[in-house]
Amino acid sequence: MENKCSCSFCGNLTFGGLRIHGELICPACEGRLAQLQIEDEDYKDWLGHLRSMWLKWMKPEHPGF
Ligand SMILES: [Zn+2]
Repeated sequence: MENKCSCSFCGNLTFGGLRIHGELICPACEGRLAQLQIEDEDYKDWLGHLRSMWLKWMKPEHPGF
């Protein structure tokens, strides 16, 4: 049985969703990301979320990111 987890982006509790390196992306956020455009007002917010996730995934032994 699958546990309910909170989305790494919106914080909503969700079943399933997309899992990347232990982070969970709910279907709503996944769909939003897929349609994200550079000219969108909230583009930078989403980019900031993604960036913080990327930084978490970066291994210390690869400092030359
Ligand atoms: Zn979400």
